[in-house]
Amino acid sequence: MKTIIVNKDAPVLREIAKPVAIGDIKGKKIQDILKRMKIALKREDDGVAIAAPQIGESLRIFVVSGRVVSLINQNSEQKETFPDIVYINPEIIKYSKKKKGVEEGCLSVRWLYGLVERSEKVTIRAYDEQGKKFTKGASGLQAQIFQHEVDHLNGILFIDKAENIENLPPRPKKKKNEKRN
Ligand code: ZN
Repeated sequence: MKTIIVNKDAPVLREIAKPVAIGDIKGKKIQDILKRMKIALKREDDGVAIAAPQIGESLRIFVVSGRVVSLINQNSEQKETFPDIVYINPEIIKYSKKKKGVEEGCLSVRWLYGLVERSEKVTIRAYDEQGKKFTKGASGLQAQIFQHEVDHLNGILFIDKAENIENLPPRPKKKKNEKRN
């Protein structure tokens, strides 16, 4: 069965997603959802992250593509691949006061793009797919992704906050640097 990424009018995108019981993380239900999220994300050439509500599951989970590591290191020419990283019950525990307007798009809001104010740096706390708690600091693209994805878990879409929204359907030939969450 093909996992569909729901579009912006789906009610599930407007729900406050439910926390995952830590004891359930290693269970079949959650592991299957993680698998489906990774497959759906990989299918989108320009995808950098996906939140569980985007595949119709109202749970506090998002996955960041290994592609992001390549984008950050600007070594996209390299063939090396990096693993996707899972964030379960994520909480942003620190935001930098300094914010920046950044260009954003979304796999559920094709093909709109706009400018969103995001903190330049954040610290996130979450559980990984083994149920182990971790804390991570991030800046730039990764910090932006964390904020976009946590918004998804709270029923918020980037178009709720964006300015200068434009509709930019893909041209036949894709730009290499395009990325969506
Ligand atoms: Zn999104």
